[in-house]
Amino acid sequence: MSMVRTIVSSCCLSLVLIMESGCVGLSPGSPSVVVKRSQIHMGTLVSITAVAPTDLVAHSAINAGFQEVKRLEQLLSTWIPSSELSRVNDSAGIKPVPVSLETWTVVQRAKQAAGITGGGFNIAIGPAVDAWRVTEGQRIPTETELNALRPLVDLQAVRTDLHEQTLYLEKPGMRIDVGGIGKGYAADHAVIAMKQAGALAGVVALSGDIKTFGQLPGGRTFPVGIQHPRKEGAVLVYIDLEDEAISTAGDYERFFERDGVRYHHILDPNTLQPARGCQSVTVIAKEGVWADGLDTGIFVMGPERGMELIERLPDVEAIIVDADGRLFLSSGLHNRVRFPGQSDGRGQGQ
Ligand code: ADP
Ligand code: MG
Repeated sequence: MSMVRTIVSSCCLSLVLIMESGCVGLSPGSPSVVVKRSQIHMGTLVSITAVAPTDLVAHSAINAGFQEVKRLEQLLSTWIPSSELSRVNDSAGIKPVPVSLETWTVVQRAKQAAGITGGGFNIAIGPAVDAWRVTEGQRIPTETELNALRPLVDLQAVRTDLHEQTLYLEKPGMRIDVGGIGKGYAADHAVIAMKQAGALAGVVALSGDIKTFGQLPGGRTFPVGIQHPRKEGAVLVYIDLEDEAISTAGDYERFFERDGVRYHHILDPNTLQPARGCQSVTVIAKEGVWADGLDTGIFVMGPERGMELIERLPDVEAIIVDADGRLFLSSGLHNRVRFPGQSDGRGQGQ
């Protein structure tokens, strides 16, 4: 039984999951096995770990988890032209599109996340994200270009009709992208599928979006390391999770630099420029959909307003690194985090 450090994401090294892996009986006499497998889905590395009474149950729980992620990808990915969300985008300004309850729910949750974060989270940001993506050649869109897109970044024009179960983007050219919340939602649903398939405990990690349930054999919680936003491969803090989800939004995941300025992939919906208040925001919540939905929105809100919001939300905690590299912990985390080199669970805020 070896301790391994698993880099959870291929493109976004925001969270490092540290746990037992392989297919092993753990504590002597324990009937449990721990099995971990990884596959590429939703454009990223998805790792699923199952704790189960037998090998067979562990593998079928992992299969059920991957199946669920694949099913949601078919509904939500804007890279798949036939997905429900692609059809909603293709029908912008034309007509409402009937969708599954799940697609409808993700968009509704995204609108709620927008409300909670004062518009910091905005899934209608799609056209602006694309304008910055023209940065294959590291090109910075002009103000004129961004101003022309601004009317399209309009969440009020994203219509969610529950009775008809349809989604409608009222303006031609609008595009929604649930990249900032969909992986957390998928992690929640993969966990439900794993439990139904008989897993006793486990972890679903889609890139930096991780959802855990139960405990490792021997009663240990799942330890996670949070990536330092400015020291590649270094851990900022460690935290143990139990029946919780964690998600990080960082300015170091996808970025380029020009004249000493960093341009990254999280945009402020007001300015349509990269948000400037934080280097990274990690949110811990009961559900992945909220951890994922809130990290991006709080990143945009900045450290002060973002932490004030976190303190008001029940069962939600955050670790924020501001633009100057200062670390802020929400009040519920002061005794839960460990710093590298520290052996017990005592942390300190700054
Ligand atoms: P990832 O793990 O893919 O980096 P994040 O949760 O950090 O995901 O969300 C970033 C993605 O969300 C971006 O790739 C972009 O598509 C989208 N995005 C960027 N800015 C915003 C915003 N203000 N609100 C909602 N989504 C955004
Ligand atoms: Mg997010």
